Amino acid sequence: MPPPLPSPAEPVSALRRIPIAECGQPLVDFQALCPELLLDRPRYRYQRETLLRRTVAERLCAANRRLPSGYRLAVIEGWRAPHIQRRMYLATWNWWKARHPQWSDAALRRVVNRFTAPPDHRRVPPPHTTGGAVDVMLATAGGTSLDHHSPYEAFDPRSYPMNALELSEEARRTRSLLAEALGAAGLTNYPSEYWHWSYGDQGWAYRGSRAQAIYGAVEPENWNPRPEEISDDPLETA
Ligand SMILES: [Zn+2]
Repeated sequence: MPPPLPSPAEPVSALRRIPIAECGQPLVDFQALCPELLLDRPRYRYQRETLLRRTVAERLCAANRRLPSGYRLAVIEGWRAPHIQRRMYLATWNWWKARHPQWSDAALRRVVNRFTAPPDHRRVPPPHTTGGAVDVMLATAGGTSLDHHSPYEAFDPRSYPMNALELSEEARRTRSLLAEALGAAGLTNYPSEYWHWSYGDQGWAYRGSRAQAIYGAVEPENWNPRPEEISDDPLETA
């Protein structure tokens, strides 16, 4: 099988031309700001932070309030540490390489970059390291995950794009509820991943044809990562 075509949605070559005018807004704990937000199950084994830029956390909270009753937003992850991004990129690289050992490194890189941001680009910080991007899905008020992907398995890349083909009626409905609430709150979606939304980062600027982004890479004040997580090993799935 030839490599799938890279997404035309947000190439690094376009993002790198968008300047970042860092506004200096701090990261806040989105669960403390908005206790109604659920923390969804982890996808990988590591200590997740519950941080986002303040405006993003406020908009997420507003989106949650816009949902029809009986639903809540379930956040998978907001801000992500650079060393975790590096390990996640490696895990994604290994996943694709194991399935397509005949692909060249260049072909692999095009595909991997579509699903995980390259960790060390000088002018394009990975969106989650800016605190402007958030992975978020929809759950019932009681915290049960909803169907976002049938008839595909959750990990099937064919189910990832927002406009994935041949989704079930239920999965389409879940996605449209999610998209309506987040879109009305001013977040925009990376179309290759229905769960990835952002405000203020280069992807958001690109999607909205804005002249600049307002969030670059950031780290929390007095931040002390756990020593066992600063590693060169790929992340393991949870
Ligand atoms: Zn994401």
